[in-house]
Amino acid sequence: MAGEVVARAPAKVNVHLAVGPLRPDGFHELRTVYFAVSLFDTVTVRAGEGLAVSVTGVDADVVPTDRRNLVWRAAVLLAEHAGVRADATIAIAKAIPAAAGLAGGSADAAAALVALDALWGTRVSRTDLHLLAAQLGSDVPFSLLGGVALGAGRGEQLSPVLARTRWHWVLGIAGEGLSTPAVYGELDRLRATGTLPGDSGLAPTDPVIAALRSGPPSALAGALANDLQAPALALRPELGRALRAATGAGALAALVSGSGPTVAALAEDEQGAIRLAAELAGVGLFRTVRAVRGPVPGARLVG
Ligand code: ATP
Repeated sequence: MAGEVVARAPAKVNVHLAVGPLRPDGFHELRTVYFAVSLFDTVTVRAGEGLAVSVTGVDADVVPTDRRNLVWRAAVLLAEHAGVRADATIAIAKAIPAAAGLAGGSADAAAALVALDALWGTRVSRTDLHLLAAQLGSDVPFSLLGGVALGAGRGEQLSPVLARTRWHWVLGIAGEGLSTPAVYGELDRLRATGTLPGDSGLAPTDPVIAALRSGPPSALAGALANDLQAPALALRPELGRALRAATGAGALAALVSGSGPTVAALAEDEQGAIRLAAELAGVGLFRTVRAVRGPVPGARLVG
């Protein structure tokens, strides 16, 4: 058995997120295009007796270290699947803000699956790792895969998307975490009261996929879409100011990432992203501002 294994996994932005009707299982039917960005959590695992999880870094104070942590559940699930004891000491170093619509918990779970599979020598196939990931959460399969992918079902049915180039973004986290179920609940409420149009059909992903294939940031800027943006704005009105600040500071476009409260602002190029990040850090609307690029690979062993 290896002494120590380190893996890392990226945050994601949804460059397209269409939310359909609520399904009988309580999930909404989605069509989404996930995009992995260069903001990574790192998970280090060592041999241990039973499970112990520790968390350091960004938002460590709001992330549980017991069985509520997605990494704990990932360890139990992998051990059951492979028929081994769930013995490991797991250290999560977070750079991805929590409850920010960036799938930080999912990234940790995906990194833990990869790291523990190596630590325990369980050699689980990629297909089975994907199935385990889907049991842990809708975004965990994408955190394993990375790159750019079309997600169907509740997001877990993935098809990779060819992306021609590299794009530069600025992520601005506008205030404290937003609960994903609360944002979906607000969307249902706004649709039921007629404030938002009903879910008459899932907006097609073709425009954003064509933009990702063609390359120029201006094409991608025109194709960004997120059905959760309106309910996130309803729950957190200052997100509107944050979006306007991003476009006012020179972003080609800005949208709420997933359920928010992260604003993802698309820049023309790397220099543009650095300038945009500096400007947004000064406007007083964001608790964290990070310039990132993508797409980047999914959960990987490090070193
Ligand atoms: P979602 O994937 O639902 O969009 P998110 O990206 O907005 O979620 P996460 O950072 O994954 O948010 O955290 C959501 C909640 O999950 C947190 O409030 C936290 O209590 C819980 N959680 C469990 N495990 C973790 C983890 N390893 N890192 C962060 N949060 C975790």
